[in-house]
Amino acid sequence: MAAQTYLFRCLTDNFGVLLHDPESGATASIDAPEAAPVEAALAATGWRLTDILVTHHHGDHTAGIPALKQHHGCRVVAPRNEAQRIALVNETVGEGDTVRLGSLAGRVIDTPGHTAGHISYFFPTDKLAFVGDTLFSIGCGRVIEGNPQMMWQSLTKLRALPDDTRFYCGHEYTQSNIRFAKTIEPNNKALAARAEEVERLLAANKPTIPATIGAEKAANPFLRADLAEVAQSVGLTGSPAWKVFAEIRDRKNRF
Ligand code: ZN
Ligand code: FE
Repeated sequence: MAAQTYLFRCLTDNFGVLLHDPESGATASIDAPEAAPVEAALAATGWRLTDILVTHHHGDHTAGIPALKQHHGCRVVAPRNEAQRIALVNETVGEGDTVRLGSLAGRVIDTPGHTAGHISYFFPTDKLAFVGDTLFSIGCGRVIEGNPQMMWQSLTKLRALPDDTRFYCGHEYTQSNIRFAKTIEPNNKALAARAEEVERLLAANKPTIPATIGAEKAANPFLRADLAEVAQSVGLTGSPAWKVFAEIRDRKNRF
C-alpha cells in the first residue's frame, strides 16, 4: 500500500511532515521542530507516532523530540555523524543504511554541508525524499558546517534521484528563493512558471512543497551550477561546478 504523508507548518517558517504506512500503522515524524503541532497533526490524522527520523541536529528540527518521545515512546533515528548533538537517539544511521517504517523502507543518503552530519531519507517505492535543510524548493540550505564542495556534492546526489521523486524540505522559503533565482537566470522559463505556480499556491494559503526533483532541476539555480549558461551568468565560465555553486550561494547570503 502506498505511503501517506501529512504536511503542516510550524515555528515561523518550518514544515513538519508525518509519513504513514497504512499497512502496519507505523508513523514517523520527519524531524520534530516542536511537539504541539506534531501532536495536532497526529490528532488530525488519527495516526500513532512510532518513529522520529531526524535529518540534522539544529534546534528547529529537534526541539520537539523529548516531549514527543515521552508521550509516545517512539524510536528516534538520527544521523550517525552528529547523533551526539541530538537528544534521546535510539538508532544512528548513515549513507546506504535502510530505515524501516512498518512495510516502508527508506534509504539514507549522507548530505553534509548545512551541517557536517546532515542526512536525507529516500523511500524508493513511493519516490518520496525528506531532505531537511539541504535542498529547498528553488534554493538550498546555508553552508554552515561544511564547505561548498561538500554541499554541491550533496545536492548532486539528491539531483540524481528519479525526476518524479517528490521531496519535502524543512522550510517554506520558496518565494524568496524565487526572487533570488531570477537574478541568476532571469530568462529561465521553468523558473517563471514555478514563480506563477508559487504565487497561486501562497495566495490560496497552500504550501509550495512537495516539489519534484525533475521540476527543481529545471528551475533551481543551485542544482544548475554545472550548466554553461549559469556559469556564464555569474562570470565564471570554465570554472568547476562547485565554484559556480559557491558563488551563487555567496550571492544568496548577501541577497
Ligand atoms: Zn538547519
Ligand atoms: Fe532548519
